[in-house]
Amino acid sequence: DTAQTETAQTLDAVADPPVDGSELIRFDQVTKRFGDNTVLDRLDFSVDSGKHVTLIGPSGSGKTTILRLLMTLATPDEGTIKVGGAYLTHEERGGKLVRAGEKHVREVRKNIGMVFQQFNLFPNMKVLRNITEAPVTVLGLSKDEAEERARELLELVGLREHVDKYPGQLSGGQQQRVAIARALAMRPRVLLLDEVTSALDPELVVGVLDVLRDIARSTDITMLCVTHEMNFARDISDQVLMFDSGRVIESGPPQKIFSDPEQERTREFLGAVL
Ligand code: ADP
Repeated sequence: DTAQTETAQTLDAVADPPVDGSELIRFDQVTKRFGDNTVLDRLDFSVDSGKHVTLIGPSGSGKTTILRLLMTLATPDEGTIKVGGAYLTHEERGGKLVRAGEKHVREVRKNIGMVFQQFNLFPNMKVLRNITEAPVTVLGLSKDEAEERARELLELVGLREHVDKYPGQLSGGQQQRVAIARALAMRPRVLLLDEVTSALDPELVVGVLDVLRDIARSTDITMLCVTHEMNFARDISDQVLMFDSGRVIESGPPQKIFSDPEQERTREFLGAVL
Protein backbone atom coordinates (compact mmCIF):
# COMPACT_ATOMS: atom_id res chain seq x y z
CA ASP A 1 0.00 0.00 0.00
CA THR A 2 1.01 3.64 -0.41
CA ALA A 3 2.10 4.25 3.17
CA GLN A 4 4.40 1.24 3.03
CA THR A 5 5.89 2.34 -0.30
CA GLU A 6 6.55 5.79 1.10
CA THR A 7 8.24 4.32 4.15
CA ALA A 8 10.40 2.19 1.89
CA GLN A 9 11.36 5.24 -0.16
CA THR A 10 12.22 7.32 2.89
CA LEU A 11 14.28 4.47 4.14
CA ASP A 12 16.22 3.95 0.96
CA ALA A 13 18.33 6.79 2.21
CA VAL A 14 18.97 5.39 5.67
CA ALA A 15 21.87 3.07 4.97
CA ASP A 16 24.62 5.01 3.33
CA PRO A 17 26.60 3.77 1.47
CA PRO A 18 24.38 0.94 0.23
CA VAL A 19 24.63 -2.54 1.60
CA ASP A 20 26.80 -5.02 -0.24
CA GLY A 21 26.61 -8.01 2.07
CA SER A 22 30.27 -7.71 3.04
CA GLU A 23 31.59 -7.85 6.58
CA LEU A 24 30.71 -4.61 8.38
CA ILE A 25 31.86 -5.30 11.93
CA ARG A 26 34.68 -7.52 13.13
CA PHE A 27 35.90 -8.17 16.65
CA ASP A 28 39.21 -9.98 16.71
CA GLN A 29 40.43 -11.43 20.02
CA VAL A 30 38.92 -8.56 21.96
CA THR A 31 39.55 -8.55 25.69
CA LYS A 32 38.06 -5.98 28.04
CA ARG A 33 38.76 -5.86 31.74
CA PHE A 34 37.50 -3.69 34.54
CA GLY A 35 40.10 -4.18 37.27
CA ASP A 36 40.24 -7.93 37.94
CA ASN A 37 36.96 -8.51 36.16
CA THR A 38 37.52 -9.86 32.62
CA VAL A 39 34.30 -8.79 30.97
CA LEU A 40 35.13 -9.89 27.42
CA ASP A 41 37.58 -12.72 26.93
CA ARG A 42 39.35 -12.87 23.54
CA LEU A 43 36.08 -12.33 21.75
CA ASP A 44 35.80 -12.99 18.01
CA PHE A 45 32.71 -12.20 16.05
CA SER A 46 31.58 -10.48 12.89
CA VAL A 47 28.41 -9.01 11.47
CA ASP A 48 27.71 -8.77 7.74
CA SER A 49 26.30 -5.63 6.21
CA GLY A 50 22.50 -5.50 6.26
CA LYS A 51 22.09 -8.21 8.89
CA HIS A 52 20.15 -7.92 12.14
CA VAL A 53 22.03 -9.53 14.98
CA THR A 54 20.70 -9.89 18.52
CA LEU A 55 22.86 -10.38 21.60
CA ILE A 56 21.22 -12.34 24.39
CA GLY A 57 22.50 -13.75 27.65
CA PRO A 58 22.45 -13.20 31.38
CA SER A 59 22.99 -9.81 32.96
CA GLY A 60 26.69 -9.01 33.26
CA SER A 61 27.74 -11.28 30.38
CA GLY A 62 29.29 -8.38 28.43
CA LYS A 63 26.60 -7.50 25.88
CA THR A 64 26.41 -3.78 26.62
CA THR A 65 30.20 -3.57 26.77
CA ILE A 66 30.31 -4.69 23.12
CA LEU A 67 28.02 -1.84 22.07
CA ARG A 68 30.02 0.63 24.19
CA LEU A 69 33.26 -0.50 22.54
CA LEU A 70 31.69 0.10 19.14
CA MET A 71 30.58 3.57 20.23
CA THR A 72 34.12 4.13 21.57
CA LEU A 73 32.66 4.85 25.00
CA ALA A 74 35.15 2.21 26.13
CA THR A 75 38.37 0.87 24.62
CA PRO A 76 39.52 -2.74 24.55
CA ASP A 77 42.58 -3.84 26.53
CA GLU A 78 43.56 -6.25 23.77
CA GLY A 79 42.45 -7.12 20.29
CA THR A 80 41.13 -5.12 17.37
CA ILE A 81 37.75 -3.90 16.16
CA LYS A 82 37.01 -3.08 12.55
CA VAL A 83 34.02 -1.25 11.14
CA GLY A 84 33.43 -1.05 7.40
CA GLY A 85 36.87 -2.48 6.69
CA ALA A 86 38.68 0.17 8.75
CA TYR A 87 40.10 -0.29 12.22
CA LEU A 88 38.12 1.52 14.87
CA THR A 89 40.65 0.83 17.59
CA HIS A 90 43.83 1.31 15.59
CA GLU A 91 45.25 3.11 12.63
CA GLU A 92 48.09 2.35 10.32
CA ARG A 93 51.02 4.73 10.53
CA GLY A 94 54.23 4.07 8.66
CA GLY A 95 53.18 0.48 8.03
CA LYS A 96 52.57 -0.13 11.75
CA LEU A 97 49.33 -0.60 13.62
CA VAL A 98 49.05 1.93 16.44
CA ARG A 99 46.25 2.97 18.77
CA ALA A 100 43.77 5.12 16.87
CA GLY A 101 43.89 8.86 17.35
CA GLU A 102 40.81 10.96 18.02
CA LYS A 103 40.37 12.16 14.44
CA HIS A 104 40.57 8.64 13.03
CA VAL A 105 38.09 7.34 15.61
CA ARG A 106 35.64 10.11 14.80
CA GLU A 107 35.75 9.22 11.10
CA VAL A 108 35.16 5.49 11.60
CA ARG A 109 32.50 6.09 14.26
CA LYS A 110 30.44 8.07 11.75
CA ASN A 111 29.25 4.67 10.53
CA ILE A 112 27.59 3.92 13.84
CA GLY A 113 24.44 5.17 15.55
CA MET A 114 23.25 4.14 18.98
CA VAL A 115 20.02 4.24 20.93
CA PHE A 116 20.34 3.86 24.68
CA GLN A 117 18.09 2.50 27.39
CA GLN A 118 17.72 6.01 28.79
CA PHE A 119 16.81 8.07 25.77
CA ASN A 120 19.46 10.76 26.38
CA LEU A 121 17.64 13.47 24.41
CA PHE A 122 18.68 17.09 24.88
CA PRO A 123 15.97 18.28 27.31
CA ASN A 124 16.34 21.95 26.43
CA MET A 125 15.88 21.43 22.68
CA LYS A 126 12.64 20.83 20.83
CA VAL A 127 12.17 17.49 19.08
CA LEU A 128 13.13 18.85 15.66
CA ARG A 129 16.35 20.40 16.95
CA ASN A 130 17.25 17.21 18.81
CA ILE A 131 17.29 15.48 15.44
CA THR A 132 18.91 18.22 13.33
CA GLU A 133 21.67 19.22 15.75
CA ALA A 134 24.26 16.56 14.89
CA PRO A 135 23.58 16.42 11.12
CA VAL A 136 24.16 20.19 10.99
CA THR A 137 27.16 20.41 13.33
CA VAL A 138 28.87 17.10 12.52
CA LEU A 139 27.86 16.29 8.93
CA GLY A 140 27.60 19.90 7.80
CA LEU A 141 24.07 19.65 6.39
CA SER A 142 22.22 22.91 5.86
CA LYS A 143 19.48 23.65 8.37
CA ASP A 144 16.84 23.15 5.64
CA GLU A 145 18.22 19.81 4.51
CA ALA A 146 18.50 18.59 8.08
CA GLU A 147 14.95 19.69 8.90
CA GLU A 148 13.50 18.05 5.81
CA ARG A 149 15.16 14.79 6.72
CA ALA A 150 14.14 15.12 10.37
CA ARG A 151 10.50 15.52 9.34
CA GLU A 152 10.69 12.41 7.16
CA LEU A 153 12.17 10.44 10.03
CA LEU A 154 9.54 11.75 12.46
CA GLU A 155 6.91 10.56 10.02
CA LEU A 156 8.59 7.17 10.01
CA VAL A 157 8.48 6.90 13.81
CA GLY A 158 4.90 8.21 13.92
CA LEU A 159 5.62 11.56 15.59
CA ARG A 160 5.13 14.11 12.83
CA GLU A 161 2.82 16.25 14.92
CA HIS A 162 5.29 16.52 17.81
CA VAL A 163 8.14 18.42 16.12
CA ASP A 164 7.72 21.51 18.26
CA LYS A 165 7.49 19.83 21.64
CA TYR A 166 10.21 19.44 24.22
CA PRO A 167 11.19 15.90 25.27
CA GLY A 168 9.65 16.47 28.69
CA GLN A 169 6.24 16.89 27.03
CA LEU A 170 6.40 13.41 25.49
CA SER A 171 5.85 9.92 26.91
CA GLY A 172 8.85 7.64 27.37
CA GLY A 173 7.87 5.66 24.28
CA GLN A 174 7.62 8.81 22.20
CA GLN A 175 10.99 10.03 23.51
CA GLN A 176 12.55 6.74 22.56
CA ARG A 177 11.11 7.01 19.05
CA VAL A 178 12.66 10.50 18.78
CA ALA A 179 15.97 8.96 19.87
CA ILE A 180 15.66 6.38 17.09
CA ALA A 181 14.95 9.13 14.54
CA ARG A 182 17.91 11.10 15.89
CA ALA A 183 20.26 8.15 15.46
CA LEU A 184 19.02 7.49 11.89
CA ALA A 185 19.41 11.16 10.95
CA MET A 186 23.18 10.61 10.94
CA ARG A 187 22.76 7.95 8.24
CA PRO A 188 24.75 5.35 10.09
CA ARG A 189 25.49 2.03 8.43
CA VAL A 190 24.86 0.24 11.70
CA LEU A 191 22.34 0.96 14.42
CA LEU A 192 23.16 -0.23 17.94
CA LEU A 193 20.19 -0.76 20.22
CA ASP A 194 20.88 -1.22 23.92
CA GLU A 195 17.82 -2.54 25.73
CA VAL A 196 15.83 0.31 24.25
CA THR A 197 12.53 -0.73 25.83
CA SER A 198 13.79 -1.63 29.31
CA ALA A 199 13.05 1.76 30.85
CA LEU A 200 9.53 1.98 29.38
CA ASP A 201 6.17 1.28 30.94
CA PRO A 202 4.87 -1.98 29.49
CA GLU A 203 2.12 -0.34 27.44
CA LEU A 204 4.68 1.82 25.63
CA VAL A 205 6.98 -1.02 24.61
CA VAL A 206 4.89 -2.24 21.66
CA GLY A 207 4.98 1.10 19.82
CA VAL A 208 8.76 1.28 19.98
CA LEU A 209 9.23 -2.34 18.91
CA ASP A 210 6.80 -1.83 16.01
CA VAL A 211 8.89 1.10 14.77
CA LEU A 212 12.05 -1.00 14.98
CA ARG A 213 10.38 -3.92 13.19
CA ASP A 214 9.36 -1.50 10.44
CA ILE A 215 12.92 -0.20 10.13
CA ALA A 216 14.35 -3.72 10.13
CA ARG A 217 11.91 -4.82 7.43
CA SER A 218 12.03 -1.82 5.15
CA THR A 219 15.65 -0.66 5.31
CA ASP A 220 18.96 -2.33 4.71
CA ILE A 221 20.54 -0.84 7.81
CA THR A 222 22.62 -3.25 9.88
CA MET A 223 21.33 -3.72 13.42
CA LEU A 224 23.09 -4.94 16.52
CA CYS A 225 20.68 -5.26 19.32
CA VAL A 226 20.82 -6.13 23.01
CA THR A 227 17.33 -7.03 24.17
CA HIS A 228 15.29 -9.04 26.64
CA GLU A 229 12.32 -8.98 24.26
CA MET A 230 12.64 -12.50 22.93
CA ASN A 231 9.64 -12.32 20.58
CA PHE A 232 11.08 -9.21 19.01
CA ALA A 233 14.49 -10.90 18.71
CA ARG A 234 12.86 -13.89 17.05
CA ASP A 235 11.03 -11.64 14.57
CA ILE A 236 13.83 -9.41 13.41
CA SER A 237 17.05 -11.36 13.83
CA ASP A 238 19.06 -13.02 11.13
CA GLN A 239 21.37 -14.27 13.82
CA VAL A 240 21.27 -14.57 17.60
CA LEU A 241 24.44 -14.65 19.70
CA MET A 242 24.17 -16.18 23.15
CA PHE A 243 26.68 -14.74 25.62
CA ASP A 244 27.92 -16.12 28.87
CA SER A 245 30.81 -14.66 30.87
CA GLY A 246 32.16 -12.58 28.02
CA ARG A 247 32.11 -15.31 25.38
CA VAL A 248 29.73 -16.31 22.62
CA ILE A 249 28.72 -19.80 23.71
CA GLU A 250 26.27 -20.39 20.89
CA SER A 251 25.04 -18.62 17.77
CA GLY A 252 22.63 -19.26 14.95
CA PRO A 253 19.34 -18.26 13.38
CA PRO A 254 16.57 -17.47 15.87
CA GLN A 255 14.53 -20.54 14.90
CA LYS A 256 17.42 -22.72 16.00
CA ILE A 257 18.52 -20.84 19.14
CA PHE A 258 15.04 -20.34 20.55
CA SER A 259 13.57 -23.73 19.66
CA ASP A 260 16.47 -26.13 19.71
CA PRO A 261 19.55 -24.70 21.45
CA GLU A 262 22.67 -26.86 21.69
CA GLN A 263 23.93 -25.58 25.02
CA GLU A 264 22.43 -26.37 28.39
CA ARG A 265 23.32 -22.83 29.51
CA THR A 266 21.25 -21.37 26.65
CA ARG A 267 18.32 -23.61 27.54
CA GLU A 268 18.52 -22.50 31.18
CA PHE A 269 18.66 -18.84 30.22
CA LEU A 270 15.73 -19.08 27.81
CA GLY A 271 13.77 -21.09 30.35
CA ALA A 272 14.17 -18.21 32.79
CA VAL A 273 13.24 -15.38 30.42
CA LEU A 274 10.64 -16.88 28.08
P1 ADP B 1 25.38 -7.05 30.10
O1 ADP B 1 25.09 -5.97 29.12
O2 ADP B 1 25.51 -8.40 29.47
O3 ADP B 1 24.44 -7.05 31.26
P2 ADP B 1 27.71 -5.47 30.71
O4 ADP B 1 28.49 -5.44 29.45
O5 ADP B 1 26.88 -4.29 31.07
O6 ADP B 1 26.83 -6.79 30.72
O7 ADP B 1 28.66 -5.73 31.94
C1 ADP B 1 29.58 -6.79 31.99
C2 ADP B 1 30.39 -6.70 33.26
O8 ADP B 1 31.21 -5.54 33.23
C3 ADP B 1 29.59 -6.61 34.54
O9 ADP B 1 30.21 -7.43 35.49
C4 ADP B 1 29.70 -5.14 34.91
O10 ADP B 1 29.62 -5.00 36.30
C5 ADP B 1 31.06 -4.78 34.40
N1 ADP B 1 31.17 -3.35 34.02
C6 ADP B 1 30.56 -2.77 32.97
N2 ADP B 1 30.89 -1.47 32.88
C7 ADP B 1 31.76 -1.22 33.88
C8 ADP B 1 32.47 -0.07 34.33
N3 ADP B 1 32.37 1.12 33.69
N4 ADP B 1 33.27 -0.21 35.41
C9 ADP B 1 33.40 -1.39 36.04
N5 ADP B 1 32.76 -2.51 35.68
C10 ADP B 1 31.94 -2.44 34.61
